Amino acid sequence: MIEHSLNKKTNGKMFNIVTATWNPISGCLYNCNYCWARDLATTKLKNSHRYSKGFKPSLNETEFRSKFGKGELIFVSDMGDML
Ligand code: SF4
Repeated sequence: MIEHSLNKKTNGKMFNIVTATWNPISGCLYNCNYCWARDLATTKLKNSHRYSKGFKPSLNETEFRSKFGKGELIFVSDMGDML
């Protein structure tokens, strides 16, 4: 049996090697029924500026000012799909 990556060993994080996320584009036009990002955007984050209009694709210009430390492993676009 394959163990799901989101488990207690990763302390609730999907990938324990990821140190930061970067979402210059968020949202998505697909509607996968297993999408945890859409669920998060439309529930816990629904009152945030970024997701106040739902999970529609958007360009997040503020992300271009993000700075990351040397050696960080950045998960790009964990809150959307660029295709
Ligand atoms: S972000 Fe990914 S998982 Fe979610 S609806 Fe889009 S393609 Fe599907």
